[in-house]
Amino acid sequence: MSTIEVVGAQVDTRHFINGNRVASAETFLDTSPIDGTVLGEIARGGQTEVNLAVAAAKAAFPAWAGLGPQGRGVLLHKLADLVEENLETLAQLETFDNGSLLRSHRRGVMPRVALNIRFFADWAMNELKHEVFETRGHSNNISWDPSGVAALITPWNAPLMLATWKIGPALAAGDTVVLKPAEWTPLSASFFADLTKQAGIPDGVFNVVQGFGKEAGAALVAHPDIARISFTGSVPTAKTIARAAADNLTPCSFELGGKSPCIVFEDADLDLAAELAVEQYDNAGQVCLSGTRILVHEAVADEFAARFRERAAKLKQGDPRDPETDIGPQIHQVHFDRIKGFVDRAVAGGANIVMGGEPNSELGGLFFRPTLVKDPQPGSEIVTAEIFGPVLCMQTFKTDDEAVAMANGTEFGLAAVVVSGNRQHAEQITKQLVAGTIWVNCFFVRDLRAPFGGSKKSGVGREGGTWSFDFYADVKNTVVSPNGWKE
Ligand code: NAD
Repeated sequence: MSTIEVVGAQVDTRHFINGNRVASAETFLDTSPIDGTVLGEIARGGQTEVNLAVAAAKAAFPAWAGLGPQGRGVLLHKLADLVEENLETLAQLETFDNGSLLRSHRRGVMPRVALNIRFFADWAMNELKHEVFETRGHSNNISWDPSGVAALITPWNAPLMLATWKIGPALAAGDTVVLKPAEWTPLSASFFADLTKQAGIPDGVFNVVQGFGKEAGAALVAHPDIARISFTGSVPTAKTIARAAADNLTPCSFELGGKSPCIVFEDADLDLAAELAVEQYDNAGQVCLSGTRILVHEAVADEFAARFRERAAKLKQGDPRDPETDIGPQIHQVHFDRIKGFVDRAVAGGANIVMGGEPNSELGGLFFRPTLVKDPQPGSEIVTAEIFGPVLCMQTFKTDDEAVAMANGTEFGLAAVVVSGNRQHAEQITKQLVAGTIWVNCFFVRDLRAPFGGSKKSGVGREGGTWSFDFYADVKNTVVSPNGWKE
């Protein structure tokens, strides 16, 4: 079977290589986390399909690079238009495939998919500063040249949003692309591939190879014709990719996991603090940026916990297609069991459950109750490891120094949320935090012009605005002498 119907849309489950659909001898099953429905059989790619896709992308590169930012921009804007025209289909498809809230996909995520493409197309055309520096009469001319074939590897928690965060700048920079989506969420990338064709993006410029990380993903990152690897996923996978990339010295951009703090100071607006803390359950806790460690000043801990419980009690768990639902299912049984394991071991180690702590037995399936754990053993895995589920962990502190030490006390450094009513105090704290993004009295607000990435084990490099082009392009300095001209 090569095409399946999901929510009235035809989705081809084969690879998309050189503008054509390509099957594999083997397939794997894709199921919906909402109710376990089998959505379809997906082509299971490996070395052969990767070789075909990279060869197609390599062959398409000179002409795509030669179009220049303006020529590419016209086609990328058409692609963004098509995403907007198909927004409802993409939203429903993604919800069926990964269980995220349909209302979020409609309102925020899919519009952002279109914006990812438009924004970087415009940035390449209008905003890259081709500066000229003068040195003793010589001009240093800065340019961002296309670099070749970009390998993009993405996770399942926000499939198309995270993929286009890479596809947008890579294509705008003049690179051609081979995308390997996560095996738990293959559908939106496949549907998107058809949109690239409709937009008139030339064959071979954008390719999708479906399959498992250890097969298709591993073959792709080890391929000698890859000029860039941009990966979003877990730390252990990034280490494997870095080893494979080392043989070819392929530049890598890594956006990895987190165990971010949400710090509530004594001077905080506690209603705002409780609201922000409850927001950390967004996407059933499957958000890399979540501030899952709630660090609260001991003087306000009881009051904060009461207000948190009051708000969290209003969360509605259920079918992500229902507009009233706040928390949907986890992505997969394997992941669900992993989350449950963390909570069970924390309880066995003496931690207390303030809320949740178990599967939602009324809903069954992959629904895990939003959970707040308190009094964990210091240094235990529940406070150091990324759980990637609806599990928050509350600890208290007495002094600012203690808060900062706790906040910085993991191997991660992706994000931090600071809640304080005093600007000077907040500023003094943010200066000491080690994280790629810090939110003060807010969460999840970010401009695409700003850098995004993680410190410590949360990532290597930054993307966003010009930072994306610094990675996907070959940044060049052409120095022109005032001497030697015959005209
Ligand atoms: P994962 O590392 O298991 O898989 C991510 C992708 O890598 C998948 O497409 C997978 O098939 C592929 N892969 C696996 N092994 C590979 C290999 N050997 N070679 C090449 N590719 C391989 O991560 P996941 O479980 O899909 O995603 C969850 C993780 O992603 C969490 O750690 C989360 O924090 C992180 N994440 C980070 C960000 C960010 O922007 N920093 C955003 C979203 C998710």
